[in-house]
Amino acid sequence: MFATLSDRLTSTFKNLRSRGRLSEADIDATVREIRRALLDADVAVPVVREFAAAVRERALSVEVSGALNPAQQVVKIVNEELVAILGGEGQRGLALAKNPPTVIMLAGLQGAGKTTLAGKLALHLKEKGHTPLLVAADLQRPNAVTQLKVVGERAGAPVYAPHSGVAGEDEVPTGDPVAVARAGVETARSREHDVVIIDTAGRLGVDAELMAQARDIRDATQPDEVLFVIDAMIGQDAVATANAFAEGVDFTGVVLSKLDGDARGGAALSVARVTGRPILFASTGEKLTDFEAFHPDRMASRILDMGDVLTLIEQAEKAFDAEQAEKMASKLAQGDDFTLEDFLSQMQAMRNMGSMKKMLGMLPGMGQMREALDSFDEREVDRVEAIVRSMTPAERRNHKIINGSRRARIAKGAGTTASAVNQLLERFEGAQKMMKQMARGGGMGMPGMGAL
Ligand code: GDP
Repeated sequence: MFATLSDRLTSTFKNLRSRGRLSEADIDATVREIRRALLDADVAVPVVREFAAAVRERALSVEVSGALNPAQQVVKIVNEELVAILGGEGQRGLALAKNPPTVIMLAGLQGAGKTTLAGKLALHLKEKGHTPLLVAADLQRPNAVTQLKVVGERAGAPVYAPHSGVAGEDEVPTGDPVAVARAGVETARSREHDVVIIDTAGRLGVDAELMAQARDIRDATQPDEVLFVIDAMIGQDAVATANAFAEGVDFTGVVLSKLDGDARGGAALSVARVTGRPILFASTGEKLTDFEAFHPDRMASRILDMGDVLTLIEQAEKAFDAEQAEKMASKLAQGDDFTLEDFLSQMQAMRNMGSMKKMLGMLPGMGQMREALDSFDEREVDRVEAIVRSMTPAERRNHKIINGSRRARIAKGAGTTASAVNQLLERFEGAQKMMKQMARGGGMGMPGMGAL
């Protein structure tokens, strides 16, 4: 899923990597490529337009960051906008009724994956300790009831179905789906099932009769959730279908099915934004276990094929602490001294970067950074910290006042030797000299972070 879209976006970002700065023309070219990639993936036109405009505007006003190069900043923006169109951060789970049974109604076109989903949901709920009852209110399609019985059996959940008097594979369902749905909910109540899942009929296309029936079932059963099931592979039709169901039955959440397919998957990227309803689950295969809660952020990383890079970007931002770096830069620019306190906080920042070592190993172009981190001994930070903490504030600000007897005292306080204290002060003087030079040259920042 999304393989082509992923490839297209990733190669767009690759083209940006070598740029030190992004001109308006660079940004426009990038946004154009992103727009084309999304349209080719069948994402709905209005969604693409909105997405491209948001990315362009944010990329143009991006602030120079110490931690991220321009390409990384664009990736970050695209990721955040993808998360937004997929429904934003923090996804809700199923809305469960305060007074059981919780009623969940499934709606969607024929073949969307409703019956399969009924089994998947039942299994999912059973695993959470619920006692779901499946209700066969799809009386249109021959075999629909039998099929629901099969998935119910696999999920270990009972099925409430109308009796036709003819048992077996060819059972022909009869009766009024609205009455069946209502009786199903009553049965759940009397047999103490805490969740009812109602499978309803679909048609190959949207039609008025289908909508009216779904609406009647909804009104008769007052569901806590109406889940609209949509086949992620239906392309540009997704928006019209979703809108028709939103108007016709007014669903509360979306389930994307067949996300395992290799089609372009634009439905996934359009439906939440167009209908304003959250995507709650994704179906990823024919087995009952091919089912997962839908997380916009994870889906966005999957589409960008950049899970690791995004984590890295986050960590780099955290470790870098732009505010602190800025403070130090302006301090040095004003001609203030680089103190032992500054030295210590720099080492601590290096230690934070150390936790990224493994990840850096997986990325190309990070050789310089990796070398610096490889030669960095994390225990050294603790030793330096102990020594600096044993000094008085005045000494930390001006190490020149530390005489021989103070060196011995500091060593004792830090549980180390006077020569270790001497070594630290020597190294610090070297660093101080370097910082002075850097302040004159105007360059400040983490070494080697520009290579990604
Ligand atoms: P309904 O008409 O909406 O009830 O749809 P069904 O549940 O009968 O599904 C239609 C077809 O799609 C069946 O052959 C299912 O096995 C298949 N199907 C359902 N969900 C998925 C899915 O997530 N992935 C794949 N590959 N097939 C699915």
